[in-house]
Amino acid sequence: SAIIESQNLNLFYGDFQALYDINLAFEPNEITALIGPSGCGKSTFLRSLNRMNDLIDGVKIQGKILFQGNDIYAPHVDLVELRSQIGMVFQQPNPFPFSVYDNVSFGLKLAGIKDKAQIDAAVERSLKQAAIWDEVKDKLHQNALSFSGGQQQRICIARVLAVSPEVILMDEPTSALDPISSAKVEETMLELKEQYTIITVTHNLAQAGRISDRTAFFNAGKIVEFDKTKKMFLKP
Ligand code: ADP
Ligand code: ADP
Repeated sequence: SAIIESQNLNLFYGDFQALYDINLAFEPNEITALIGPSGCGKSTFLRSLNRMNDLIDGVKIQGKILFQGNDIYAPHVDLVELRSQIGMVFQQPNPFPFSVYDNVSFGLKLAGIKDKAQIDAAVERSLKQAAIWDEVKDKLHQNALSFSGGQQQRICIARVLAVSPEVILMDEPTSALDPISSAKVEETMLELKEQYTIITVTHNLAQAGRISDRTAFFNAGKIVEFDKTKKMFLKP
């Protein structure tokens, strides 16, 4: 059954309604692709799944997002904890301007974890899961910004994985990357779905066909179609 779902979600930027009555449920160990034309609300919806929209002035939300059965918009939700359970990877790789090790361990330190052996183990596990360990294991003290875009993106994925998320939100994670780096990140995503729930925005239909289990098609703030990708893409 669903690990995270939206129920009758409406979202407004001031007077402008960006999302209309969105009902979507996401299953563990699946990749769901959010597709649709530019400006149709894909990123807005993605950001509503871990309250990233809260940062924007004038946003109003109606309806619910349930994560493991609990409404994430309820009062007293701990946003740091929420965003470690529901992590986010952005289009533009955005490592902090410090070492790989400090990037990946950042969330653990924020969570108050001090045990060095525990942090080291989590750093290694995360970099391995993000398929970047071999490339950085001897360079953990090197500035993350000194690596290629594709490597930086996998370091950012490791940073999310270090705090043991359940759900990983990805906003066009490969569209700023060259084809080879993009293929590596796709491979990483396919491996990650064995352990996590992945929801990714993509404007690339072929990519949605390659990697996603389900596809949600947005248009003008509404869901036009939501189905298994294989079924949807085989339609005439
Ligand atoms: P997509 O990801 O599908 O390209 P977005 O979710 O970014 O679409 O945007 C959906 C709609 O909401 C667009 O009309 C966009 O202009 C508008 N929008 C996005 N962010 C904001 C914002 N911070 N303030 C006002 N309107 C916004
Ligand atoms: P330096 O010699 O500059 O300290 P190292 O690469 O040996 O560089 O170690 C850098 C940091 O990475 C240290 O804080 C260390 O604890 C950590 N570290 C070293 N090996 C591992 C590992 N296998 N997994 C996770 N972290 C590690």
